[in-house]
Amino acid sequence: MSPQTTHSSRSRFVYTLASLTTVGIVALGAAPAALAAEPPDPEVRPPTWDMSLDELRAMGLGQYRGDPIPVPASMFHERDPNDPPQVKQGVIFVNFDGAQLSSGPDNSKTNTTQIGQLAGSFAAYGQGSKREAVMQAVREDWAPFNVLVVDSRPASGDYTMNMTGPTNPFGGGVLGIAPLDCNDAQTHNNITYAFHSANDQFSASTQATTIGQEVAHSYGLEHVDEPGDIMNPYNAGGNPSFRDECIQIVGNQGIVCGQQHAAQCGSSNMQNSFQELMALFGPAQADEGPPTVSITSPADGATFEVGADFEVTATASDDVAVASVDLYVDGQFQQSDNSAPYSWSVVNIPAGTYEFYAVAKDLAGNEAMSDVVTIGVGEAPPTTTSGSGGDAGGDGGDVGGGGTGDGGGTGAGGGTAADSTALPPGFGEDGGDEGCGCRQAPSAPTALWLAMGLLPFVRRRDMR
Ligand SMILES: [Zn+2]
Repeated sequence: MSPQTTHSSRSRFVYTLASLTTVGIVALGAAPAALAAEPPDPEVRPPTWDMSLDELRAMGLGQYRGDPIPVPASMFHERDPNDPPQVKQGVIFVNFDGAQLSSGPDNSKTNTTQIGQLAGSFAAYGQGSKREAVMQAVREDWAPFNVLVVDSRPASGDYTMNMTGPTNPFGGGVLGIAPLDCNDAQTHNNITYAFHSANDQFSASTQATTIGQEVAHSYGLEHVDEPGDIMNPYNAGGNPSFRDECIQIVGNQGIVCGQQHAAQCGSSNMQNSFQELMALFGPAQADEGPPTVSITSPADGATFEVGADFEVTATASDDVAVASVDLYVDGQFQQSDNSAPYSWSVVNIPAGTYEFYAVAKDLAGNEAMSDVVTIGVGEAPPTTTSGSGGDAGGDGGDVGGGGTGDGGGTGAGGGTAADSTALPPGFGEDGGDEGCGCRQAPSAPTALWLAMGLLPFVRRRDMR
């Protein structure tokens, strides 16, 4: 339905909203009264965007999405909110898993929230297929923009985190809340909230609308008078999107991010949700650049005594964000670490020679492999020099995984270096026999222990 045909009815809509000003969350300490939320009656005709709030409520719709909370001027800003936005890829982490939140200036990486009422334990969303449907709907809403939407915490880089779960200090009529960060200038690491769960009566599309709206508040978008836009504060059903048109801004607190809106619409009273997000993030782009990863300790060629304990540490980076780093020993996957610093504990290592490498994945699924680090335990270190091994291994890392064997294997006659730079011989693979030629034979207990595939000595280092 075009804005023209709905104009009069939308005016009615707004008028009704204006009478409910006290519902809005206008200050950090003010909790609104709960609105009745009844499940929709399937016999009633489907909602349309030009219905009045009363009509929506009669159908179980019309729930409110809380007024965004302007970032206090006293809080830090990475840049001046009146400066033009810096185009940068965005990352939205939809956190369905709950978290323990502390109070302070927003930092998604440390679970620190500037909305004081949400400090404390935030419950998980719950189990079921709805979560996947919500993720799909959120991704569709954000698909035009250079924004990644993930549901596991990025290991590095900036990200807006939307807590999605039933913990709701504002009452059942309020669906969400967020800081209002004009031009995303305060921080890329805001925390926003959608008070939805696997078992509530709202569709995946409506939940995604709440999530998208709250996240967009943290990019400076405010509420608009158009139920077909994600930034409309009232749940009117349907499948809203970020609309590419200038729409009247509505709100109980006046207009806060006027300069941001005026840059697109020529008026601080109008908002083009689509173009404002485009100005911040640019159009969608594929993340084709793989991450880089290297093992920082132990050093290649290091030796340890039998039974030694030590740490394996790795660094990884990506043009967007690293999703995880996996540790392999002798070709066998050990454990994944999804947050920096990446480290694992090795405890009571048996005698033998071991090849360690790490595989990093970015949020788009690109992978890269580190150089191989070979260590000796209770024996002489491997005869390969760390220099040549490292160089050749770098080639393998660039290629990342399959196909690296050719370059390494056919390389310089120094069989040891070549072997260690190809994909390391994993247990049960043919390469294993080859590899044995360049190692000192492992002791019988080690061989047995490897054959069992248990590798019990490596465990993730618990640093948090
Ligand atoms: Zn809102």
